[in-house]
Amino acid sequence: MSDCLFCKIAAGEIPSDCVYSDELVYAFNDIDPQAPRHFLVIPREHIRSCAEVSAENSAVVAHIFEVIAKLAAELGFKDGFRVVSNCGASAGQSVEHLHFHVLSGRDMTWPPG
Ligand code: 5GP
Ligand code: ZN
Repeated sequence: MSDCLFCKIAAGEIPSDCVYSDELVYAFNDIDPQAPRHFLVIPREHIRSCAEVSAENSAVVAHIFEVIAKLAAELGFKDGFRVVSNCGASAGQSVEHLHFHVLSGRDMTWPPG
């Protein structure tokens, strides 16, 4: 989508701090980190949110979780990490391109706010 911030980041049209990249997904550090490590993993394909995951596009979501597990191991997140996807305005989604926050490096509370 031409006016989507995360499509532009995945395409390299807007600079970002890359954590991982392949033909299907892109991961980059969050510009406003909420933990000592906080990055986002996104599909290169424009999917608006978790609510638009379907049988046609869900393979990339499985791949995203494989990438998250690989990065967590490589980055030494042995004390734990959190994966979050906000879906819709009331859940706090501010960018309408599916993304998974990966946070680590501090104790987290539950329930989330
Ligand atoms: P959401 O609020 O939709 O769950 O998450 C969007 C995330 O994208 C936020 O954590 C925000 O800090 C991050 N973000 C917004 N704009 C940019 C940007 O231009 N670059 C980077 N690296 N992160 C961004
Ligand atoms: Zn997009």
